[in-house]
Amino acid sequence: MTIVGAGFGGIGAAIELRKHGITDVTILERATHLGGTWWHNTYPGCACDVPSHLYSYSFAQRKHWSRLCSPQQEILDYLQGVADDFDITGAVRTGTDVTACRWNDASRRWTVESRDGRSWESDALIVATGQLHQPAYPRIDGIDDFAGHSFHSAQWDHDHKLAGRRVAVVGTGASAVQFVPAIAPEVGQLTVFQRTGNWFLPRKNHAYPGWLKTLFRTVPGVETFRRSFVYWYAEFLTLMIRHPKTWGRVGKAKSAIFMQWQLRDPEVRRKVWPDYTFGCKRVLFSSWFLKALQRDNVTLVDDAITRITPTGLLTADGVEHDVDTIIWGTGFKTTDFMFPMEITGVDGRSLRDAWADGPHAYLGMTVPDFPSLFVMYGPNTNTSGGSIIYYLEAQAAYIRQALELVRDRNVAALAVRPEIEADFDVATQARFGGTAWLRCDSWYRDDATGRNITNWPGYMREYADAVRVLDVEKFTLITLPEHDAATSTDISA
Ligand code: NAP
Repeated sequence: MTIVGAGFGGIGAAIELRKHGITDVTILERATHLGGTWWHNTYPGCACDVPSHLYSYSFAQRKHWSRLCSPQQEILDYLQGVADDFDITGAVRTGTDVTACRWNDASRRWTVESRDGRSWESDALIVATGQLHQPAYPRIDGIDDFAGHSFHSAQWDHDHKLAGRRVAVVGTGASAVQFVPAIAPEVGQLTVFQRTGNWFLPRKNHAYPGWLKTLFRTVPGVETFRRSFVYWYAEFLTLMIRHPKTWGRVGKAKSAIFMQWQLRDPEVRRKVWPDYTFGCKRVLFSSWFLKALQRDNVTLVDDAITRITPTGLLTADGVEHDVDTIIWGTGFKTTDFMFPMEITGVDGRSLRDAWADGPHAYLGMTVPDFPSLFVMYGPNTNTSGGSIIYYLEAQAAYIRQALELVRDRNVAALAVRPEIEADFDVATQARFGGTAWLRCDSWYRDDATGRNITNWPGYMREYADAVRVLDVEKFTLITLPEHDAATSTDISA
């Protein structure tokens, strides 16, 4: 079994498989270390905005989180610790840049190829590269002409000192909201370029006081209660997104009161105030970002950037903003999923072609004609309010059931039936109707079609229920080559 990606998805899948006797597991990881997004993103202030009691594996709960939302290093240490505890670290092949995964119709196995010419044969393949791993740069004229220094928030250049410099930050998403307050006191002049305002909710995220840490550590059940509380809070956030005309108004009101209170500067308030439905884009949790925007050394620009010049950024109002450094807080190529990796299935069909009209997969995991290929954190499995780890665990258990089925039926692989996948896709898209997710443009949606191709349209609980038991009727079982003479390649019920 080959897994591509050693983040929370890949590590969690390996643990699940090994726990159930599927021990021959190799995890291929492009980076020099496991951790996925928590290895790559090291920007100042980097933390998870989902509380750690929920943003952690259910089977590896910790009693000693330092604060509500742990910082990057603490999360990375946690994942490394879990991988060590479950003896997974040794299965990770770091520095392995997977370029292609090919299904072989004759051997009915996968061949996985890396950039350095190595290859792996595998009965099944898990692609756990996620949605947030390829930094996105905006298409702005002159972007290569800038003579100063520039870098992306997911590739933070810690050698480049910002103290005293004129710095531009492009983007005001979940990443920028964390690093802007962290760098604002240090830089000389900070200019933040915002394209769209966001809805904010308060989050101070101070370190837990000693008494609370002691409570978590010593009183049985307290951290379980905490996890449960955070879980239901997250589901409530989804309720507000699903029902913008009713529950969504509650969220909007809370956010508006908070923002009104924080935004003392009327000019900044006017620029920041969002003009779209609460919850359509990710709601941002920060009690520090809006305050940072009102510092004397910070300027918020909401005019569109029309050009990058050798000395700075030109905006639509004709102003040239000269800076020494540009930090791209412009997010990720979320809708590219595992591409540019080349994936070919039955008859050499390319996944890129299969997804020409936008990615879609049954339960976000399986695609017709790509036997025993399982995508983790695939299409329509992102969460706007919950913990992705909750989804990943559910997926790992589902994939494990699929592999057990293949083993128990003594077949080569299984592939979802095309009509099942198509029906699932229609039903998934239909569930977005009336929700906040469709009320603005966002990285959740395909630019060309407007389909929401990244998010799960419902609650965490619903997804877990949907994937709890694998239904063999939904799949075609593919015989082993040596059984060809006796049976057809489709021996399912
Ligand atoms: P993002 O949410 O996609 O934000 C990108 C920002 O760049 C947006 O403000 C976007 O504006 C702006 N932008 C893009 N092109 C631009 C242009 N040409 N000119 C001006 N602005 C431009 O990216 P992110 O902040 O890196 O976060 C991505 C995702 O990562 C989050 O949604 C979240 O799921 C995850 N994340 C999570 C955490 C966490 O704590 N759990 C922390 C960081 C990130 P528009 O809004 O107009 O598109």
